[in-house]
Amino acid sequence: MNKSIKVEDYYDQATFSRIKALADTKETPFVVIDTATVDHNYDELTRNFPFASIYYAVKANPAPEILSLLANKGSNFDIASIYELDKVLKLGVSADRCSYGNTIKKSKDIRYFYEKGVRMFATDSEADLRNIAKAAPGSKIYVRILTEGSYTADWPLSRKFGCQNDMAMDLLILARDLGLTPYGLSFHVGSQQRDIDSWDGAIGKVKVIFERLKEEDNIELKMINLGGGFPANYITKTNDLETYAQEITRFIQEDFGDDFPEIILEPGRSLISNAGILVSEVVLISRKARTSLHRWVYTDVGKFSGLIETLDESIKYPIYVEKTGELEEVVIAGPTCDSADIMYEDYKYGLPLNLAIGDRLYWFSTGAYTTTYSAVEFNGFPPLKDYYV
Ligand SMILES: *Cc1c(COP(=O)(O)O)cnc(C)c1O
Repeated sequence: MNKSIKVEDYYDQATFSRIKALADTKETPFVVIDTATVDHNYDELTRNFPFASIYYAVKANPAPEILSLLANKGSNFDIASIYELDKVLKLGVSADRCSYGNTIKKSKDIRYFYEKGVRMFATDSEADLRNIAKAAPGSKIYVRILTEGSYTADWPLSRKFGCQNDMAMDLLILARDLGLTPYGLSFHVGSQQRDIDSWDGAIGKVKVIFERLKEEDNIELKMINLGGGFPANYITKTNDLETYAQEITRFIQEDFGDDFPEIILEPGRSLISNAGILVSEVVLISRKARTSLHRWVYTDVGKFSGLIETLDESIKYPIYVEKTGELEEVVIAGPTCDSADIMYEDYKYGLPLNLAIGDRLYWFSTGAYTTTYSAVEFNGFPPLKDYYV
């Protein structure tokens, strides 16, 4: 069971007050996102990785408030669909600051990106590469490789994306032969990756491909895309960003020396998560039997209203309540008529015994991967609302 969650372990007082002031005026459930924190997180990232180009992973939170803030700070954008592209271009961002990072795409969508001016595309398969060659001739190609690390990432992104090293080489050679520009390699070690050494293994693989392509095929790659995976603050602790940056920089230098290739980062979670607090209300508290050792706490937010990353209890959000006192183990579940709508049952959260119906729960670090994951109207519940301060 966790200890009671303290505000000061996650937010400075001024930030929490800003969020709370707005939250007090709204009806639950909703998420409030503090844009000053996003601003700060972006500065921290560029300070720690001064040599890298940032491509914000739009899927983490595509709100115009976030996109325009990051656009003004000079960020580029990692985009997964024509809809995300439209959102970003609408803000006046030029297409040369966008990459099409999804390896799964329709030919007509590739053409759409190309017509809008995008010239950098990810791939991990021959069929997709041939589509890119036709629909986006001459573009820069980076191939995504498979990486380990799914056991130490709280939200793994392996298996579905990427290809083995030998295939990556075949694809880059084919890219050249199809008139494209073989530009680089990418990987994603898994989101909320707690093991920094995952980057070491992946960069090592990249190094081997760089060398072999140069020696055997006279192809000189220019770029390494290190993906996302940088941490947010949840219940399970991680190293701080500075430690990630120091270690990853050392891995790059060990393999490539000081004169290393262009480096791209695609942060999502680490930029936005801890800027957000989701606020819900307790709808019901019950016990299943006279002798039950724990209570069930049902809230007005659940798996279908933004908390999908609680699947398999993968992401353990810190849950703060204003009441204090003795804690009791509880099961926490959402409001819908689907028994999958249980957030935490194996991992027991401790909430105060005096918690009552109508009390608010503050779910910390919920700025990323919440708003757009919310269902349209399952059981008639409207999508999660979001407010920006
Ligand atoms: C989702 C995604 C990211 C963002 O990952 P985080 O772990 O949230 O930083 C980056 N790159 C790609 C290709 C992604 O799909």
